[in-house]
Amino acid sequence: MPTANSPELSKQELARRYTRAPHRATLASILAALTLTGLLACRGSSVSPSPASVVLILIDTLRADHLGSYGYSRPTSPTIDRLGAEGILFSQARSVAPWTNPAIVALFTGRRPTAVVPPLEHRQAIRTPLPAELPTLAESARKDDVRTLAFVDHPGISPGLGFARGFDTFVRLFSAGGFPIWSNTDGEFVVDEIERHLDGLRDARSFLYVHLVYPHRPYAPPAPYDGMFGPTTRRTSQQHREEMVNAYDAEIRYTDDVVSALLGALARKGLRDNSWVVVTSDHGEGFWEHGRAEHGNSFYDELLRVPLILSPPAAARIRPQRIDTPVSLVDLHPTVLDLLGVPRHQPPGEIHALPLLPLLTSSPAGAPRDLLSQQPHGGDVTGAALLRGGWKLIRRSERGHPPLQLYDLANDPRERENVSAEQPELVRRLERALLRALARDEAERKSLARREPEDLDDEILERLRALGYLR
Ligand SMILES: [Zn+2]
Repeated sequence: MPTANSPELSKQELARRYTRAPHRATLASILAALTLTGLLACRGSSVSPSPASVVLILIDTLRADHLGSYGYSRPTSPTIDRLGAEGILFSQARSVAPWTNPAIVALFTGRRPTAVVPPLEHRQAIRTPLPAELPTLAESARKDDVRTLAFVDHPGISPGLGFARGFDTFVRLFSAGGFPIWSNTDGEFVVDEIERHLDGLRDARSFLYVHLVYPHRPYAPPAPYDGMFGPTTRRTSQQHREEMVNAYDAEIRYTDDVVSALLGALARKGLRDNSWVVVTSDHGEGFWEHGRAEHGNSFYDELLRVPLILSPPAAARIRPQRIDTPVSLVDLHPTVLDLLGVPRHQPPGEIHALPLLPLLTSSPAGAPRDLLSQQPHGGDVTGAALLRGGWKLIRRSERGHPPLQLYDLANDPRERENVSAEQPELVRRLERALLRALARDEAERKSLARREPEDLDDEILERLRALGYLR
């Protein structure tokens, strides 16, 4: 048990934060687990009196396997690698969707995409607002007196669709800096803009959501990053695949330096001592591994496997850990609330998201949990995938694709061989589980008020058109 300069105060504060939650038993066990592993914020022999804050850095379109800490051979990510080496790295995190909006909807609401948004093709899907009935991550945090700030460089994560709900401050970075389109927002501007909002947060619990988009197309790494991994191109063509990967990797390297500068800003403002820094992504990016490029169009791991790193407060003593249990992006919803010490307001119905902190002290008992990924934005919008243990079942009705594909991820991590014909009974079991889960999601979704796609403001429409999303 950590000791404290003011132990009673600290214990009372911690007890208040963890026992006010509706899920008292669960959170009490988390508290015990954190205590056992020395995870509570300690400085020397004292418990930090500062409340825990969370800085969630979501790097759009960042596939896990292009980071050194996830096995990549190029030096794309020295800062993120260091966070992973010193903190908690989840090696098998998957997104809930292969593109931005459904993934962020799940992160913000704690529900799977299909339980929140109807399956629509991209033109409608990107204009579908968050349902008013579901509390967002920021709303739950603010209700518990957490200061909430968002810095978002993605035009689709728009206040007009409800994504700003619960944030005291919501800055659209591209707009604040007057930059033309995403991937061009100057990193120095991003860090300066965030830093100037950090005054006064040192002694408050705060939740910062930072959504960067540099690895998203168009790949436009600035000098001197452009070319650091070889010649690059702005084109999307299979003939220029190598140049595209070079440019994508250079964008990751640039992003890593932005993250490094951001950590510097947090330290200058005294926030690194009492803030968890979480690094993740909403989905990956394809380079014709399975016949297609970019994202939104399949359920293979180049799109679904994302990094997930929890870097503890600088003042905490923590044993670095690598956790190989498969986890989902949606799990970050309750996990961030736990780190903030905010009661979880679980929506009714099935619990989609599981808090991750218990995994620090024990492996989950029993059968492996099913993880779902859903809702591509083109072609077959009702496609879905189910991950159970080391198996992945993909179910699609799009022409030109086998309707059911089964992959043995432990032995075939690149998903080269569809083994559904050799495992018919397993395919049947997984398909039944997938269909049951989708039916439950649909029932939950239908209990929400019907929402029509919103009109987006002219600036957002222009940016989305410039990127080819809308015509
Ligand atoms: Zn995205």
